[in-house]
Amino acid sequence: MNQMNIVQLENYRQKLLQQKLALLTGDEAELTSAVELKAGQLDNLSFQRQIKMQETIKHKQAQLQAIDGALHRIDNDKFGFCYVCNQAITEARLNFDLTVTRCLQCSDKIFD
Ligand SMILES: [Zn+2]
Repeated sequence: MNQMNIVQLENYRQKLLQQKLALLTGDEAELTSAVELKAGQLDNLSFQRQIKMQETIKHKQAQLQAIDGALHRIDNDKFGFCYVCNQAITEARLNFDLTVTRCLQCSDKIFD
């Protein structure tokens, strides 16, 4: 059972969808420029810039996956609960990042 009410969940869902849309819009521009580069301008681009661009795209793909995961958890009534210990994640933490899957204690345990 989810302790959050429907209005709150719907609010989170809208925020996640907006974030997703912003990411997808940005991706399109980047992918277009990546295609243009393949067409012959690759020599003009520094190696560091290529790496940086690949990292940016990877980072965005990871963010998109995280957002899709959060939307999926909303649909399955699991949003807002720690993936590890199943305790409720604090609202402050969720508002900071809607895609968090662990409570503060569990994320400390894993990343320390
Ligand atoms: Zn936890």
